[in-house]
Amino acid sequence: MNLKKMISGRQFWPLIAVLLILFGLVLIVGHPREEAAPASLPRPEDDMKVLVLNYHMVNSMFISLAVEPSDFDWQMKYLVDHGYHTITPDELYDFLDGKGTLPDRPVLITFDDGYVDNYTNAYPILKKYNLKATIFIVTGFVSKRKGYLTWDQLREMEQHGITAQSHTVTHAPLPELSDDRIREELVESKRQAEAELGHPIEYIAYPTGVHDLHIVGIAKEAGYKGGFTVKYGNVDRASNVYAMERVPIFRTGATNVDFVDRLRYTSNITQYGWARH
Ligand SMILES: [Zn+2]
Repeated sequence: MNLKKMISGRQFWPLIAVLLILFGLVLIVGHPREEAAPASLPRPEDDMKVLVLNYHMVNSMFISLAVEPSDFDWQMKYLVDHGYHTITPDELYDFLDGKGTLPDRPVLITFDDGYVDNYTNAYPILKKYNLKATIFIVTGFVSKRKGYLTWDQLREMEQHGITAQSHTVTHAPLPELSDDRIREELVESKRQAEAELGHPIEYIAYPTGVHDLHIVGIAKEAGYKGGFTVKYGNVDRASNVYAMERVPIFRTGATNVDFVDRLRYTSNITQYGWARH
């Protein structure tokens, strides 16, 4: 009795084909190709994660956007005691561009909106610990609206490493505006802050964090080198320089415990969400 008779004629050839494929797979799996040697070892900075903290208010209001001044002091001391080094947006940009190096445990401290308490409450603490920070100002509010910084306060802080960048002119959510209005928000805030402060304004924090490719295109045209979102995460060399991640710090039931948790960023931390401001 031969094999071909045991299996009906219709099934014989497909069965042989399957056996041949299986035999081929065994050959491939059984003899893996030599692993190609890596061309060069990855440099340690290639996977360096940069922490960009995002604050709003530093005062005693009982809202999530307002961190208590004593908590802010505790957090700044924590950074110093744990070997963090504050950096500027330019230092971060140069690193991402492959042109510069960063200190150990780099942290970019940012504030959005330009509230006056950044001057009255945060600034003395930053100065005490000799920390740099960046304030994203709404230029149409500066020296005009109660509760917001003045140009004089900004100029004074800039002497001590706390520098301003743009958070637009009116804080309108950009995707809801016409192209002309988007351009105006970006170009005019840059022009106004440069005239008042005398240094280039090259970074934008998108109001409420919202942005899209179209807005990024207009920001590039307007002369911005980079943009910050409220997308939760650390910045690394894989980040889009026009959509850089930040780690928001809020008043919570356990503000300082949550602060420390957030420094040890993990992707599942997104469960905490963020405020849209
Ligand atoms: Zn804002």
